[in-house]
Amino acid sequence: MGVTKEKSQEYDQMLRVKDKVAVITGAGSGIGRAAALRLASHGAKICLLDLNNDRTEDVEEQIRELGGESLFVDTDVSDPERVRQAFEAISEKFGRIDIVFANAGINGTLSPIEDFPPEEWDQTLTTNLKGTFLTVKYAIPHMKQSGGSIIITSSINGNRKFDGFGFAAYSSSKAGQTAFAKMAALELARYKIRVNVICPGAIKTNIGESTEPTPQLDKIKIPVEYPEGSQPLEHGPGQPENVADLVLFLASRESSHITGTEIYIDGAETLL
Ligand code: NAP
Repeated sequence: MGVTKEKSQEYDQMLRVKDKVAVITGAGSGIGRAAALRLASHGAKICLLDLNNDRTEDVEEQIRELGGESLFVDTDVSDPERVRQAFEAISEKFGRIDIVFANAGINGTLSPIEDFPPEEWDQTLTTNLKGTFLTVKYAIPHMKQSGGSIIITSSINGNRKFDGFGFAAYSSSKAGQTAFAKMAALELARYKIRVNVICPGAIKTNIGESTEPTPQLDKIKIPVEYPEGSQPLEHGPGQPENVADLVLFLASRESSHITGTEIYIDGAETLL
């Protein structure tokens, strides 16, 4: 007897993240937004941590339209007290946390190293790397009882690619996230908490808004030209929804034996 469409959908939902509680940082835009909607469409309850703006309201509206449940907590991921309080508020409302997507990030200032203002270096590192540390740190007390999945958004930059001229702070933060994910995977395995890191290539999002190139950049650029395009698979940047599918997989039981691993999602961009 064949499996009906309804049965297969039911099975699909059971297998994945139905009724799990997912915390997503940077959930108002780009990759975080797409992951929030993908996880919600598979039945997860979504906690959106982001700086307060209209975009987050729009994501919540779309989650409601999907029949899902959400909670927004206005949080700057670089602020320890606000991150701690956010996890407390989530735990109070939902009583559990199963999935954490530590994703918020900025490109920040792009500058030659000798001209890089130290305070702007700190801003990128504090948002991207310390923000990841704080998100994981304050999630642990709420996850260690039942286990779960943590996914960290790093990048091809700092891991497989080093030609982003001026991206010294960004790439260092992204390399740091990969090392941190591996340390965390080993340390948290005893609690059955898996930790993986995803490394997207160019993805169409609003990250340009947090990109601040300085005029001095021209002096360090080395022209790099590929014969035709730089994304062999799609001939263009990936979509946030492509990344959301990977997040769903890593959040679900289908990836139950995968931890401490970085996964590239770049349409072979970095193999050129
Ligand atoms: P995006 O569209 O700009 O989304 C980033 C989100 O993070 C925004 O909602 C932003 O809020 C939020 N955010 C920034 N600083 C924050 C803070 N201190 N506290 C809380 N939230 C904060 O960019 P995206 O491309 O989706 O970026 C998501 C992640 O993917 C980042 O870690 C980025 O490094 C990584 N990534 C992106 C690409 C790409 O090509 N797009 C490639 C590789 C890796 P506001 O808008 O309110 O500032």
